[in-house]
Amino acid sequence: MASQTETRHDESSDATTQSTESESALETARRQLYHASKHLDVDPSIVERIKYPKKVHEVTVPIKRDDGTVEVFTGYRAQHDSVRGPFKGGLRYHPDVTRDECVGLSMWMTWKCAVMDLPFGGAKGGVSVNPKELSSTEKERLTRRFAQELRDVIGSNQDIPAPDMGTDPQTMAWLMDAYSMQEGETTPGVVTGKPPVVGGSAGREEARGRSVAIITQLVCEYYDRQLEETTVAVQGYGSVGANAARLLDDWGATVVAISDVNGAMYEPDGIDTVTVPPHNEEPEAVTKYADNVISNDELLTLDVDVLIPAALGNVITKENAEAIGADLVVEGANGPTTSAADSILAKRDVAVIPDILANAGGVTVSYFEWLQDINRRAWSLERVNDELKVEMQAAWDAVRSEFEQRDVTWRDAAYIVALSRIAEAHEARGLWP
Ligand code: GLU
Repeated sequence: MASQTETRHDESSDATTQSTESESALETARRQLYHASKHLDVDPSIVERIKYPKKVHEVTVPIKRDDGTVEVFTGYRAQHDSVRGPFKGGLRYHPDVTRDECVGLSMWMTWKCAVMDLPFGGAKGGVSVNPKELSSTEKERLTRRFAQELRDVIGSNQDIPAPDMGTDPQTMAWLMDAYSMQEGETTPGVVTGKPPVVGGSAGREEARGRSVAIITQLVCEYYDRQLEETTVAVQGYGSVGANAARLLDDWGATVVAISDVNGAMYEPDGIDTVTVPPHNEEPEAVTKYADNVISNDELLTLDVDVLIPAALGNVITKENAEAIGADLVVEGANGPTTSAADSILAKRDVAVIPDILANAGGVTVSYFEWLQDINRRAWSLERVNDELKVEMQAAWDAVRSEFEQRDVTWRDAAYIVALSRIAEAHEARGLWP
């Protein structure tokens, strides 16, 4: 107890200091919480409570490798806050997965679900493993054993995992199967992002990219910019980048650059995005199909109207923030802008629409999937896309209203919306016992 009190004091003062480039997800989450709380009349004890996760589970995940040897991995599930509903968030398989990273990302999920007004709290988990070094059968054994270790703490009313880095719909199908076999009943609502044939939702795969495109359209409208006269550069051509680029292209914008890990295709007159296969269909196709290749760093500084970083975290840094040529940045990836870069962009009046709003289509369609599973009734793709649009518009309106009423950045406005909803729920429920 004493050590927690000490930590608490240290962190309160930390939160007021300037951000750094090496900031972890946890530090970022806490700093954003502190920023938002300065604008609201929130009981400080509530802010203090949500600086910490409710629970963090650490499990040992031994698996038999294909050569018969046994290897032991470490898995985590951080459950941050459940005041608004069951915990919700992805599971990642990546060598950099740590307890602290899961805690930080679970806090981001709390803010993301709250800004979308979904009846969920935030969670995140994963296994510290390089999935590229596992065969498909090893990945299946890892997933089933991980599901078994987490069985008591997940559930359709308790905590609902989803795909994230290194995991996919197949991983979710194994997880759902392992859980269901142990429970003795098929429980599709225990995870989202499953293949539609086992209770997944139509439109879930493209949902993050679709929400990025919807938000880009709304922000362009807000700044009186016609989509037909807007140029866009998209970093990354995976599920988020390719879907966002294709939709914006379809809606009239001119997509001048897209990229993969090897570099970017740059066509000042516009790319016909449907002719370039996305990463899941043909990895690294962008540079293969390109006549004119520039580097990923050059893509970020192109003189375009909208920049959509949709690949990795921490790509807009204090090193390149001054050189960003776009007036609008819409974050497709989680955490693509470091906080030092964020301050530079704010000073330069570059509007940055944060990830917790822009890419929240993924978790929103996860919510639709959960509703479909619980009600045993599938929705059409048209209904999913229509309802996603309604939810994105509502979240945009709430964030825009805070942005207009207070002299804050779009990011702060989104966190203010999220924190006020979370704090109100805590106040209504109270502290017990
Ligand atoms: N991992 C995704 C995210 O960061 C989706 C989470 C979910 O669908 O629960 O938003």
